[in-house]
Amino acid sequence: MSSEAATAVRGDLPPELDDPLFRTALGQLDGALERAGVSDSVAEVLRFPERALSVAIPVRLDDGTLAVFPGYRVQHSSVLGPTKGGVRYDTAVTLGECAALAMWMTWKCALLGLPYGGAKGGVRCDPRSLSLVERERLTRRFTSELLPIIGPQRDIPAPDMATDAQTMAWMMDTYSMQVGHAVPEIVTGKPLSVGGSVLRPEATGIGVVMVVEGAVERLGWTLDGARCVVQGFGKVGAIAAAELAARGARVTAVSDIEGGIHAEGGLDLAALDAWLRETGGIAGFEGSQRVTNAELLELDCDVLVLAATERQVTEANAGLISARLVAEGANGPTTLEADEILFARGIPVLPDILTNAGGVAVSYFEWVQDLQRLFWGPDEIRTRLGDLMRDALERVWALAEAEELTLRSAALVQSIRHVAAALQSRGVYP
Ligand code: NAD
Repeated sequence: MSSEAATAVRGDLPPELDDPLFRTALGQLDGALERAGVSDSVAEVLRFPERALSVAIPVRLDDGTLAVFPGYRVQHSSVLGPTKGGVRYDTAVTLGECAALAMWMTWKCALLGLPYGGAKGGVRCDPRSLSLVERERLTRRFTSELLPIIGPQRDIPAPDMATDAQTMAWMMDTYSMQVGHAVPEIVTGKPLSVGGSVLRPEATGIGVVMVVEGAVERLGWTLDGARCVVQGFGKVGAIAAAELAARGARVTAVSDIEGGIHAEGGLDLAALDAWLRETGGIAGFEGSQRVTNAELLELDCDVLVLAATERQVTEANAGLISARLVAEGANGPTTLEADEILFARGIPVLPDILTNAGGVAVSYFEWVQDLQRLFWGPDEIRTRLGDLMRDALERVWALAEAEELTLRSAALVQSIRHVAAALQSRGVYP
């Protein structure tokens, strides 16, 4: 191909990646590349995923009919090591969404200094409409379709939206049956009984609050008495809320996909947990008022934790956010336009690739423990997690101050430099 033709290809978005979330990821990368000071050729390699697999998953439903679900796994970069990333079950899953999330996993792992690249996968389905048995069939068939590209030294899945330790146990069992022996290190986020790690279920939420606490200190205030709003009361949001409350903060509102609840005096999280287990939702919790998810984001508060899903703070509502600090527990909850608006309004955003990295950090600890068949206690995990999160925040904050960057740009610049250095050293095969 002539260099002219190569230039024509450069920058074009392949149609399968033409997705709003991938455009956001690409926009963030492009915005940080110049600052990162990497060559054009390295930049071009980083812009697109190394590999993407699209599968059709036939599942026999409980009523005897057959449904076919689309599934994807995207591996963005294996330059630093095996790829790592979650698997989600959601109606919005697309190849482009997985590609964006996989790219963010590359930056997240690099930022924390983990020996991994980024991946992400998912199945487009409504998880709430599937029975436990249907989920098991779906998970096992999906895993079996992924066999050619996953492995403990190739690509290691983990839980994400609407998947959990049970999902990971089915994935681990399906993989293990194929190779003829137990392979716990094929997935992370498993139950303890099959090689999971203590604190993995809580790790992302704990890490979010470690970063928030460090940021608040640097901003000159404290979490004690701070009013916090948490969007998304799932694995990340519920733990983040509990960790905030444990530091003296007042959690004034939380939400799930159905909407939110608000109590300016603070929600009793232990009672809310019991209510959730009893009723299956947060709606109707005593002493709270119902708010929509849109209203919840605009509530006056000190810390807004976004722990639901992507593209929640957009051009349309960024001007109405009334928080002093925004923390991205979810991946990609803020669009490029919203980022600019929040920056102009002086509201710092703690970026996803830093803030929610506690999950992949403890996933790394789980993988290391599985490979060694030697397990650590909760104190060791919490200490190691705290060291990684505080060190990453320190580096991001220092670079942001030194080079007058947003926290997101500072995090991206560090990650890109790290991956680019490895890419330069390894060179391009053949
Ligand atoms: P989850 O399925 O356990 O919880 C998601 C929560 O968000 C639920 O309460 C759900 O009802 C709510 N929700 C979903 N869509 C919503 C919408 N459109 N509006 C409002 N609420 C909505 O998932 P999770 O594991 O807690 O993941 C949440 C986010 O955190 C995702 O972006 C995920 O990629 C990210 N994340 C998760 C982990 C992890 O370890 N689980 C790690 C890093 C990042």
